[in-house]
Amino acid sequence: MIWPFLTLAAIVGWILNHRWWQKRFTDAQEASRKEIAQAAARQQQAAAVALAEKEALFNSMIEGVLVLGQNGRVSMANRALGNLFSISQDIVGKSILEVLRIHELAPLVNRVAKERQVLAFEITLAGIEQRVFEVNASAVFSRNGEQEGTILVFHDLTRIKRLQNTRQEFVANVSHELRTPLSLIKGYIETLLDGAKDKPEVAERFLRTIDRNANRLSLLIEDLLTISQLESGKTVVNFARVDLHQAVDRALEDFFPSARDKRVKLTNAVPPQLAARADANRLHQILGNLLDNAIKYGRADGTVSIAAKLAEDGKIEVSVADDGPGIPPDSLERIFERFYRVDKARSREQGGTGLGLSIVKHIVQSHSGRVWAVSRLGVGSTFFFTLDSC
Ligand code: ADP
Repeated sequence: MIWPFLTLAAIVGWILNHRWWQKRFTDAQEASRKEIAQAAARQQQAAAVALAEKEALFNSMIEGVLVLGQNGRVSMANRALGNLFSISQDIVGKSILEVLRIHELAPLVNRVAKERQVLAFEITLAGIEQRVFEVNASAVFSRNGEQEGTILVFHDLTRIKRLQNTRQEFVANVSHELRTPLSLIKGYIETLLDGAKDKPEVAERFLRTIDRNANRLSLLIEDLLTISQLESGKTVVNFARVDLHQAVDRALEDFFPSARDKRVKLTNAVPPQLAARADANRLHQILGNLLDNAIKYGRADGTVSIAAKLAEDGKIEVSVADDGPGIPPDSLERIFERFYRVDKARSREQGGTGLGLSIVKHIVQSHSGRVWAVSRLGVGSTFFFTLDSC
């Protein structure tokens, strides 16, 4: 009777085997669950990194980016957009008109949807300061061709436009300044050749005019070269200890003849032993330009005085004062601009190029100083500039 034992053994074996398989199956299930969870976590992390990268890229762009959803309302905007248009509040869900108040944008968004290509156009925003933007607009389409939204990219052109205008204005001014003496020279030469050369007293007068205008041309070219050198930022400033009283004496010497002609008294009121850290040649140029103006535009029989003092901030403040007719308040802010003159005819008549004060400003700035003017009509003008003390 071995069969019952064998059957019992088979049943026990089967049960044990089944349990073993069951355990293995559960273990395998557990392991695959863990693997799936790990893979999901890895995927999640990769997605988070990719999103963070996109966000960093989006926010580090110089251009302002505005993303509109299917409903035409803002779904996303980057930091640059906020900076460009001074937006600090949350704009998600708002319409573009609510956010930017630029009426040209809504028709642009509609056109982009119809034409299905990137459109670029320029907008000019009026305000205290005019601003110019290039806007690139493109529609976003899904795989089945449905429009999902619109992306608007704003590129601020204000600075570039301003530079272009300044350059154009400068070229126009230079051409005008060169043309005037040149056409006078040409005109007088033609008159001389036409017969005036045979009348000595007329010829002499004409030749003097030609000489004066040729000098004006060479002065202008010299000033233009100085300006371009100073503006290139490549000027070498040779700083050294400069005795101010002596520097002013040297500058005044150059003006003895013109001051005598106009009976102007020149005074050096700079205290001895006041020393500045400056480039002696450049300082000579500053003083020369200010003295030239003070004598040119000051009154006959007047006084021009140069003084200096140690200011509270430790800088030396130098002043060049005249008792001339003065400068109107609205011109006072502009006289340091290139080619700006209060009285054009008077400046030209005096041989001015309109660049003197602009040169002064550049040189003072290359010395980390400040330059400004104070004036009262009928009383006089005083020009100030600062230098580091030594
Ligand atoms: P300019 O060659 O015409 O003298 P500047 O740049 O030196 O050019 O000066 C600009 C303008 O500022 C002058 O044309 C003049 O109208 C005015 N200006 C400068 N200095 C004086 C001054 N001391 N008194 C009155 N006006 C002045």
